[in-house]
Amino acid sequence: MEKFDVVIIGAGSVGLPLSFYLAKKGLEVAVFEKMQSEGRGQNRAAIGGIRATHSDSAKIKICKMSIEIVSRMEREYGVDIDWIDGGYLFPIYDEKNEAALKELLKFQKKFDLNIDWIAPDDIEKLTPGINRENLRGGTYSPEDGSASPLKLADAFYMLARNSGAEFHFNEELTAMILQNGRITQLTTNKDRYTADIVINAAGANARDIGKMAGLDIPVYPDSHEAGITEPVRRFFEPMIVDIRPDEQSANYYFYQNKEGQVVFCITPDPKIPGRDIDNTSEFLPLVIKRMVKLYPRLRNLRVRRTWRGLYPMTPDGFPIVGYTKEVENFILAVGMCGQGFMIGSGLGKALSEIIIDKTNKYNDILEQLTLYRSFAGEEILK
Ligand SMILES: Cc1cc2nc3c(=O)[nH]c(=O)nc-3n(C[C@H](O)[C@H](O)[C@H](O)COP(=O)(O)OP(=O)(O)OC[C@H]3O[C@@H](n4cnc5c(N)ncnc54)[C@H](O)[C@@H]3O)c2cc1C
Repeated sequence: MEKFDVVIIGAGSVGLPLSFYLAKKGLEVAVFEKMQSEGRGQNRAAIGGIRATHSDSAKIKICKMSIEIVSRMEREYGVDIDWIDGGYLFPIYDEKNEAALKELLKFQKKFDLNIDWIAPDDIEKLTPGINRENLRGGTYSPEDGSASPLKLADAFYMLARNSGAEFHFNEELTAMILQNGRITQLTTNKDRYTADIVINAAGANARDIGKMAGLDIPVYPDSHEAGITEPVRRFFEPMIVDIRPDEQSANYYFYQNKEGQVVFCITPDPKIPGRDIDNTSEFLPLVIKRMVKLYPRLRNLRVRRTWRGLYPMTPDGFPIVGYTKEVENFILAVGMCGQGFMIGSGLGKALSEIIIDKTNKYNDILEQLTLYRSFAGEEILK
């Protein structure tokens, strides 16, 4: 059996950066990916938003690292991944959400996040022509931004390979053999392997991989749709997040990417649990109606295509990260929900330091994201 220091299951938003940081530190890393190339799972469904301005400390800390990594990718490694620091804007139209976001600001400020409440005139400067009727202001975080999920996946894939990581595409993990609380053999559709450490980064399939190790990992996918327009000259800067719910959706968000295309996404309410990734005819009328009302200037844009993907959800909306108690050489990096693209880079780097350097500087993050929490909490800013 071929042996590796680390085997990662899944070449996606999490597995790719993780493979790079582990290989860069000198470990023999193999990545098994059941699809034909990198980033073809849910990574390619992401619209590209990256923010550190969350409502809990673990995601704030990890995503701060992600922004640091992604924003320097071109300078450091010469790869353009379409990073734009256009910021995130939450325009607010009612008293209740104004109070909630202002309260959250107090928490976010404790983490040195560059975020503030701005007035309607400042919002207008960032998004000329936005609907100002009843606009009360909003929060704006200029250091958040966006990048291309396809280009970032490709960048980490190349960096990982150049650092010695091995990629096994079209190779699906099908079984594990355990002895005395350790994984001693991995079986794929092609061969058998052994590894000192096995990392579950299988996204929407994380629970299936967990079952192979005798664990029940609460990751339940649900379906989300997105779309992209033709490219036009840049006319607004930030990712705009409208958190007002309506009868069929909880919120929606959109931004203009580096190529000038507007990319958008909606959160259906109620959720659509399952693994259905077929586009629907309901999505466009639902999301476009809301977007054009908020930002009438979008009305002349032509939509190029839509797609549907999965959020690998957990019951409380937070990822599950860390070693398992039952299987000593098994690590989880799963349950990324709607934020795996923005979490992946920072988490990959942090996990490499946890595994190789045995650092304890991320203990608070591991404590918050442990598999052994109650899952009773709920994220404020989804
Ligand atoms: C419409 C939409 C918009 C989104 N927008 C954003 C956004 O703006 N920002 C953001 O941060 N996130 C966004 N997300 C969420 C993001 O896409 C996911 O959270 C993220 O891709 C999950 O990363 P992952 O590495 O866990 O999974 P994936 O990227 O799916 O990687 C897991 C990989 O594991 C492989 N795999 C599974 N089982 C096996 C097996 N048995 N053997 C071998 N390989 C296996 C899969 O094929 C897959 O490639 C969005 C999601 C959707 C659907």
